Amino acid sequence: MKIGILSRNQSLYSTSRLIEAAESRGHEVKVIDALRCYMNINSEKPQIHFKGEELVDYDAIIPRIGASVTFYGTAVLRQFEMMGVYPVNESVAITRSRDKLRSMQLLSRKGIGMPITGFASKPDDVKDLLDMVGGAPVVIKLLEGTQGIGVVLAETRKAAESVVEAFMGLKANIMVQEFIKEAGGADIRCFVIGGKVIAAMKRQGAEGEFRSNLHRGGSASLVKLTPEERKTAVAAANIMGLNVAGVDLLRSDRGPLVMEVNSSPGLEGIEAATGKDVAGLIIDFIEKNAATKRTKTRGKG
Ligand code: ADP
Repeated sequence: MKIGILSRNQSLYSTSRLIEAAESRGHEVKVIDALRCYMNINSEKPQIHFKGEELVDYDAIIPRIGASVTFYGTAVLRQFEMMGVYPVNESVAITRSRDKLRSMQLLSRKGIGMPITGFASKPDDVKDLLDMVGGAPVVIKLLEGTQGIGVVLAETRKAAESVVEAFMGLKANIMVQEFIKEAGGADIRCFVIGGKVIAAMKRQGAEGEFRSNLHRGGSASLVKLTPEERKTAVAAANIMGLNVAGVDLLRSDRGPLVMEVNSSPGLEGIEAATGKDVAGLIIDFIEKNAATKRTKTRGKG
């Protein structure tokens, strides 16, 4: 097969592992930087050009679109879909999952467990907002944050009010969330491919740190999931419409709570912690599904 990886840099761990896994199975692989693609949008023959050449005859695309290039990256992916190329994750599903507000609304309407969460932009009554989510301690998050930056634990009501007001001063959209103390500074990353959790790891924050992000000094280890955790992770990926997803869960007294569903989950941490060939499993999934040139939306929506 001819497989394209939409990625800005072929030396990134996940990208290079995908290249390796695809080539070792005899596929032709090309890394395509979405930002450098230019497109001809017409109803007869949608085209994509890259470095002076037309991209043709691709069987599948693996989107590894960074958060900062979501808008243009998903447009390029949509163009591939219009050309009948199979996307490992569809552009609509990626756009959906990148919108934290929309994702949480979709998950909650399907009854998926999640921390009690308030959203706000310019609340006039911060006290009422805090009451709404059960009062301090609360976790306050910038909607646009990644890797734990802009995630603050406010242990007292006064601290929570100050942080909300500070974020409001920055004109940022925020999430105010019940603090899940019993998670003990750890979360669980479930790697879902094609409706199954194929690998899972527990990330534990450094001593005295409630955030478990590996970028913030957290450490990862193998974890055994409960059936309920498996079910929740698979359901969350399905609701987002993602074939490949990283679902982050917190272990709480009332069961697994979904924090986030990631459409381009990194491979480095999960392969190191579990010893699994996750890249190979993604290519296996493509082999099973891309042959029929199936895309649900074909660039719709
Ligand atoms: P980011 O998307 O920037 O990584 P997260 O929302 O995943 O931000 O939060 C970073 C980390 O903080 C999580 O991995 C988790 O360990 C911890 N955390 C986030 N929200 C809560 C919460 N409501 N209760 C307890 N811990 C939390």
